[in-house]
Amino acid sequence: MSFNFPVEVLKGLQTPYYYYDMALLEQTLRYVRSEADQYGYKVHYAVKANANERLLKAINAKGFGADCVSGNEVQKALDCGFDPSGVVYAGVGKSDREINIGLDNDIACFNVESIPELEIIDELAGLKGKIANVALRINPNVNANTHHYIRTGLEENKFGINQWDLENVLDVLKRMKHVKLLGLHFHIGSQIMDLNSFKDLCLRVNEIQKWFISHQIFPEVINVGGGLGIDYEQPDANAIPDFKSFFRLFDEILELKPGQELHFELGRSMVAQCGVLMSKVLYVKNGVNTKFAIIDAGMNDLIRPALYQAYHKVENLSSTGETEKYDVVGPICESSDCFGKAIVLPETKRGDLITIRSAGAYGEVMANGYNLREIPVAYYSDNI
Ligand SMILES: *Cc1c(COP(=O)(O)O)cnc(C)c1O
Repeated sequence: MSFNFPVEVLKGLQTPYYYYDMALLEQTLRYVRSEADQYGYKVHYAVKANANERLLKAINAKGFGADCVSGNEVQKALDCGFDPSGVVYAGVGKSDREINIGLDNDIACFNVESIPELEIIDELAGLKGKIANVALRINPNVNANTHHYIRTGLEENKFGINQWDLENVLDVLKRMKHVKLLGLHFHIGSQIMDLNSFKDLCLRVNEIQKWFISHQIFPEVINVGGGLGIDYEQPDANAIPDFKSFFRLFDEILELKPGQELHFELGRSMVAQCGVLMSKVLYVKNGVNTKFAIIDAGMNDLIRPALYQAYHKVENLSSTGETEKYDVVGPICESSDCFGKAIVLPETKRGDLITIRSAGAYGEVMANGYNLREIPVAYYSDNI
């Protein structure tokens, strides 16, 4: 199954806008479910990839949990129907207000990233007479082969507790009365295409868990985060990521103990391919060595190309003319407002419908009002 474009309908809508193929989302979610269920793995959807309510409700309806990185994400997940027992909360900089949202709603687990944070959670839980479940986010010092802005598992990164600090963490935990250590948490980065990075993670987790067990601590939950990449080059050939190989790798390499649960926090891989950014061509302008196709979507609508030099496939859905090369650019006053250089498109003219593919993750949710532009609206295949 691949993304379906009802072009005639889409042409009639005011651009730019996000468009979601809900059937493709459904298929993807079903596949994740069936592959994860084979091993009894629990998947929490990483809300930060896309907090669109329609998507959140569809994901909740399939029985996934929610992985949140802010108090408002926790609140949003709960508002969209997620059960608190399936909500986990990570982040290096949780404010007191945000921690209290988690405590008041009895979420499943705080993924704790430092000793000072652990102390504050203990204190705030104490004030409420509660016991907070926590998992230690440990920096496994694994190098995920991905863009350096979305690499999080190296000691030089700000995320997680470094291994040399673990003895101290155990000392601190011993004197705390309002936190319960539930498990260990890891997340090495995003858009990881090479499964060997996950293999390295598994091997580190095996060692780290041995260390804990040798210190008489049995982690009930191992949470290995997210990060599975998607095929931005070929969104049709690979509309649904290879969850089968992904989960199988963990089954083969990670040494789970009896009674232990393995949790995942997948974001991008669950939603990226089901969303596109739709736009129209405003002008075609001749440059020195190139033609510019100036479209009405910009980096405020989809910031990934400008922020991470990310590639998104661009297609012209209106034209079948002779192909030419275009630099496809947005209207924003920044040279980084460019969706791609020397892209081969059929002859492109004003009014043509352009789609920017694989925009379902880190797209709509990162849209902003720079240049006082409107935040793009969203349409859905089952409701247009
Ligand atoms: C962003 C994030 C994820 C999801 O990452 P994807 O690459 O979108 O799968 C999972 N866990 C944590 C802690 C995150 O910050």
